[in-house]
Amino acid sequence: MSGLYIHIPFCEKKCIYCSFYSIESFANKNRFLDALHREIAQSGEIPPVKEEREEVRTIFFGGGTPSMLSPDEMSAILDSLRAAHTVVGDAEITMECNPGALNRDWLEGYREGGINRLSFGVQSFHDDELQFLSRIHTAAEAEENIRLVRDVFDNVSLDMIFALPGQTPERWHYNLERAVDLGTDHISAYSLIFEEGTPLNAMRLKGKVNPAPNDLEADMYEETVQFLARHGLEQYETSNYAKAGYACRHNIGYWERKSYTGYGPSAHSFARRGVLGKRWANVSSLNAYLESIESGGSPVIMREELTSEQGMEEIVMLGLRYRGINLYDFKEAVGEELTSVAPERVEWLLKEGFAQLDEDSLRLTAKGSIFADRFALEIIEATERSRQLSSI
Ligand code: SF4
Repeated sequence: MSGLYIHIPFCEKKCIYCSFYSIESFANKNRFLDALHREIAQSGEIPPVKEEREEVRTIFFGGGTPSMLSPDEMSAILDSLRAAHTVVGDAEITMECNPGALNRDWLEGYREGGINRLSFGVQSFHDDELQFLSRIHTAAEAEENIRLVRDVFDNVSLDMIFALPGQTPERWHYNLERAVDLGTDHISAYSLIFEEGTPLNAMRLKGKVNPAPNDLEADMYEETVQFLARHGLEQYETSNYAKAGYACRHNIGYWERKSYTGYGPSAHSFARRGVLGKRWANVSSLNAYLESIESGGSPVIMREELTSEQGMEEIVMLGLRYRGINLYDFKEAVGEELTSVAPERVEWLLKEGFAQLDEDSLRLTAKGSIFADRFALEIIEATERSRQLSSI
């Protein structure tokens, strides 16, 4: 079982916080589509024969803004994917889109072409917050588009951002209320990250904006978990909430470290072997991507076999954000039990009520889930220290 990710590298306007690869020019769209079809047909990084490739259960169109492509263009990409891979009949097929430029005809066209899940980048229902994030839409346009999307699609997710500079808990609560009132099935709610290289981070470095204080961010996070649970959207990953049956199968594949193949500029791929495997990544430049494929070459610029250390890091980082660290996978990657290499960290997490330990996993409690990334780093460091000591 595996997933496919297709990166569509176009955006109408770049948002100040975004570190994903995308460009504002649409000039090379047709060249991009030709190159993408070629890449899908010729990928040399996975078994060359379709029958030897893993069955595909999920497809995710991300970016960028995939909804800048027409339904016919999206359907043609899906045809290429089906020609190159065995896609199961009930595959989850998600497309990311942005409020502002959607219409009913195109939405129906996407659905008829096979897309069955829409992930909608809304971020906020306050106009001033949207302007700060340099989003292209207003809150009213987002609401109107969500109603339209809900008319056409049964499975709709909203992306939201909290802990914006100056945002109060009341204003975040209003955003959550609007999302719930509009009948969303799934919400991804992330705190604002000041990613290196983004205009937002440059503003922070110049002292023009300040990140929200940690305790305020923690309060907003707790409110998110509780408010959404009261409205039937249970937390199933640190930043993701869904009604029963609506958890995102594609993203679960990432967290469970299933194999996936990425196509398009900047797309990453992973072929799992045991608890380790092979990773590769395409070049993060449309021009370089086009040149490599048009000259008969490969857009892949990074290939690596995971070391046991990298495997351990992934098992811990991804596990703690989802269903817990899989203790069998950890032992296979490290060669020792988690409770042997990081006994003090594990004991402390259990004593403080941040985690629970059972036969199969170490998983965070609701109280511990906000600190998933921090606890993961602590366990990784403790494991690495223990391995260094044992190698002396
Ligand atoms: S629309 Fe999405 S992908 Fe495009 S710049 Fe904004 S956040 Fe990034």
